[in-house]
Amino acid sequence: MSFILQHRYCRECGGGLKGRKDQKFCNDYCRNRFNNRKNRIELAGQRKVNQILLKNKKIIAHMLLKEKKRKIRELDLFKEGFNFLYHTHLKKTKNGRTYIFCYEFGYIQLADEYLILVHWDNFKFK
Ligand SMILES: [Zn+2]
Repeated sequence: MSFILQHRYCRECGGGLKGRKDQKFCNDYCRNRFNNRKNRIELAGQRKVNQILLKNKKIIAHMLLKEKKRKIRELDLFKEGFNFLYHTHLKKTKNGRTYIFCYEFGYIQLADEYLILVHWDNFKFK
């Protein structure tokens, strides 16, 4: 066994470990610190994605208002700050077209750089 393998170190503080072979931390304090930091980083990432999705949703909601659907230019959504990389789910129709949703608001891309905005509740999928 090499020197590196014989000497194991705490993933939090880097202190040497002398316990069981599967030991990763010197104590509960180090384990908690490590896991709390990991969770904070994960939560921050989730919050960032949620903010983008909520912004996307609000942009479509604002453009739709009380209409059931509306045809707009792709550029108009982009100008409002819509992020086309993020969505919550897709809805495929029987004829193979795909609606892209951010929560209950979505859109479908048309061939000519236009979009149709829709609301999940008000739109009947064919
Ligand atoms: Zn430690």
